[in-house]
Amino acid sequence: MHLFKYRSGELFAEDVPVRGLAEKYGTPLFIYSYKTLLRHFRAYDEAFNDYPHIICFAVKANSNTAILRVFSKQGGGADIVSAGELHAALKAGVPSKKIVYAGVGKTEEEIRFALRSKVLMFNVESGSELRQIDRVAGKMRAKAPVALRINPDIDPETHPYITTGLKKHKFGIPIGDALEYYRLASRLKNVNVIGIHKHIGSQITKVTPFVDALKRVLILIDELSMQGVAITYLDIGGGLGISYKDEEPPVPKDLAKNLIPLLEGRDLTLIMEPGRSIVGNAGILVTKVLYLKKGVEKEFVIVDAGMNDLIRPSLYDAYHRILPVVNRKRDAVFCDVVGPICESGDFLARDRELRRARQGEYLAVMSAGAYGFSMSSNYNSRTRAAEVMVKGKEHFLIRRRESYDDLIRNERIPAFLK
Ligand SMILES: *Cc1c(COP(=O)(O)O)cnc(C)c1O
Repeated sequence: MHLFKYRSGELFAEDVPVRGLAEKYGTPLFIYSYKTLLRHFRAYDEAFNDYPHIICFAVKANSNTAILRVFSKQGGGADIVSAGELHAALKAGVPSKKIVYAGVGKTEEEIRFALRSKVLMFNVESGSELRQIDRVAGKMRAKAPVALRINPDIDPETHPYITTGLKKHKFGIPIGDALEYYRLASRLKNVNVIGIHKHIGSQITKVTPFVDALKRVLILIDELSMQGVAITYLDIGGGLGISYKDEEPPVPKDLAKNLIPLLEGRDLTLIMEPGRSIVGNAGILVTKVLYLKKGVEKEFVIVDAGMNDLIRPSLYDAYHRILPVVNRKRDAVFCDVVGPICESGDFLARDRELRRARQGEYLAVMSAGAYGFSMSSNYNSRTRAAEVMVKGKEHFLIRRRESYDDLIRNERIPAFLK
């Protein structure tokens, strides 16, 4: 569900016409709907109301501090994968005791920052990381709260690039080795074992992989308990899919209905790390048609947003619906919607049936709220887009468009070249 709808042929973000925002702020432009963000966050919160839980929004899906603030004001936490995300989460007012820290390559400096900030726990991905955290905590005379990230070897049946919980992946500790690593963890003096973590992939459109993975982890929790290792926090990761095209993914309520019965009677706090399912359909990318071009084999619609603004089509061959901001009756044509970047892989849609575009008109790339801006880059020295949040009839700039000076701000010309 989202709040980008047509009213008499004009696309609105809540109660604001998208065309007006594009004219005011320029394009490419990310627009987010506050009410959609809120609704999606609350859908999780309410679905799991009957079980102790923390919803730790996955910052990598969208790290804008205004958006993080929406969730922290609702009592949400954050799932982070770098010190930069920790910094953003803290600046956005996320309480450190609701921050969980995953990622296979935490540096010593990052571990220090997280220990100083007193995050809820480190989701540890290997034995050598565990020893490193123990060593760093020892030097700081601190005790590091840890969960081990378990790789449950479950196939979430999603795109290979966003599958993370199979034996062949770099993520987590193989479930077969988990007991051994927990034993190691409980021997280490400067770590405090409090949790268990898993995250099996992204854009998952079925409940079964979540259920199967949870069952495997619960067996492990029981084995640990027999060995005297008590688990307080059970972190089941994120990964719930959204509808980009015609997918019909489960909603948080479906997850809760299937997962909570498995948890009943256990003294655990459940942590969830949704990213895409909260922000994905709460954001769009607005772009302007620059040129129309008839190739030998197909027609190209050349727009001012490229793979540096939204890389998902190029990277994952992902589908994003593309809608005209002002919907006028015109015949449909098959075309490629491409950006201005000097790469053949720079496209937003390929062989897509769209109603014939006109030079200068605006198009909306839908479902661009997750892994859109957060994966954007400055390739081709393009300034990154502006971001706007709409709330009812109001709208707020939450990130200004970068300037040309921003692009070279950190560069230096050595004296011998002057
Ligand atoms: C990416 C990631 C998430 C969020 O995944 P979504 O598919 O966006 O819900 C959660 N936890 C971890 C550890 C991740 O790496």
